[in-house]
Amino acid sequence: MSSVLNDPPLSESDPEIHRLIADEVVRERDKLRLIPSENYASKAVLEAAGSVLTNKYSEGYAGRRYYEGQQQIDEIENLACSRLKALFGVDHVNVQPYSGSPANLAVYLAFCKPGDPVLGLGLPAGGHLTHGWSVSITGKFFDSHAYGVNKDDHRIDFAEVRALAKEHKPKIIWAGTTAYPRTLEFDKFREIADEVGAVLIADMAHIAGLVAGGAHPSPVGVAEVVTSTTHKTLRGPRGGMILCDEKHKKAIDRAVFPGLQGGPHNHTTAGIAIAAKEASTLEFKQYAANVVSNAKNLAEALLSRGFSLVTGGTDNHLVLVDLTPKGIPGKVAAQALDSAGMVGNYNSIPFDPRKPFDPSGIRIGTPSITSRGMGAAEMTKLAEWMDRVVQAPEDEALIAKVAGEVKELCSSFPAPGLPV
Ligand SMILES: *Cc1c(COP(=O)(O)O)cnc(C)c1O
Repeated sequence: MSSVLNDPPLSESDPEIHRLIADEVVRERDKLRLIPSENYASKAVLEAAGSVLTNKYSEGYAGRRYYEGQQQIDEIENLACSRLKALFGVDHVNVQPYSGSPANLAVYLAFCKPGDPVLGLGLPAGGHLTHGWSVSITGKFFDSHAYGVNKDDHRIDFAEVRALAKEHKPKIIWAGTTAYPRTLEFDKFREIADEVGAVLIADMAHIAGLVAGGAHPSPVGVAEVVTSTTHKTLRGPRGGMILCDEKHKKAIDRAVFPGLQGGPHNHTTAGIAIAAKEASTLEFKQYAANVVSNAKNLAEALLSRGFSLVTGGTDNHLVLVDLTPKGIPGKVAAQALDSAGMVGNYNSIPFDPRKPFDPSGIRIGTPSITSRGMGAAEMTKLAEWMDRVVQAPEDEALIAKVAGEVKELCSSFPAPGLPV
């Protein structure tokens, strides 16, 4: 009997999954991907993420592991950490969190006991579930309080942040967003955190790439702890990380392992190291600047076509569209736009009179289309296509025509990572 396992390629071993992946390649090639939390990882990142590193167990940290055979893994994790430390100018980095949500959970474990007061931006105002929203474990196990945005300009209501902080004396204050089109003023949060003795946690999941490329002010040096995903604007593999001052290093590392997780995903760690190297280039700096200028141009083009935008525009990579003046609900618009080759997501707007499952807005962003090299001319075109579709979401002929035009445009802008 042969000791070698039969080891056929995916196309032979599992044609169903092989076909679905092939179809996903076509979807990512032929459509304008506008979900602001998504991107295209490079071929190099994908190669590492699909490598044999997935076979290795390495609980612990470099030089202090619970398994032997870490000759390569220790070097890989050290490279990921040292590159990120240089990129963000921070004392310490932990790259082991499996994704953004576990990174945030580790922060609670590091600084809070169950039932402790915490403060974060509410979900309907653009916050993330893990910042204490009721359905999340972070809202169930902690005494969470939510601040919001101003009624008039939809910017963060710092008077409310201060009032809630003084009233509840939170252990931690979250400064981070998932659907907020404006610059986050970390220094204002820091002032309030200092007034009440809270630890300020910045969650830069959406904007890490903009921060790395200098297109958004950095929270490092302002917030004592910074959490992030690695797969959004940073263009790495799906993963999470925590950056912190020297004084919180021990608490953070212990919280991630053994507090919350087992073995790190080493294939992801390698991908993060590669993404950190890519993000330290001049080319990436230009990318980050282009993401923002594309979003601004898209916002302008949408405004000129009668769209209403939350806060009236954008400073970052995303645009939150209030479709009320167009007379179409967010979900209907998002589905019609997807059929027409423009993939965004329906989203609540601040003080939305409609339900979260059928809200008034859509959220779109420029990270992915900027990774394809699209620019100002394409943003004008995109706004025009969006306008045509939301005016006639049931016109199948029109939607098919637009989808064809989108595909044609996409063919001139090959995406990173995709096979040609
Ligand atoms: C995306 C996001 C997360 C969670 O990341 P996952 O990898 O999806 O768990 C956390 N915080 C913010 C602000 C986010 O936008």
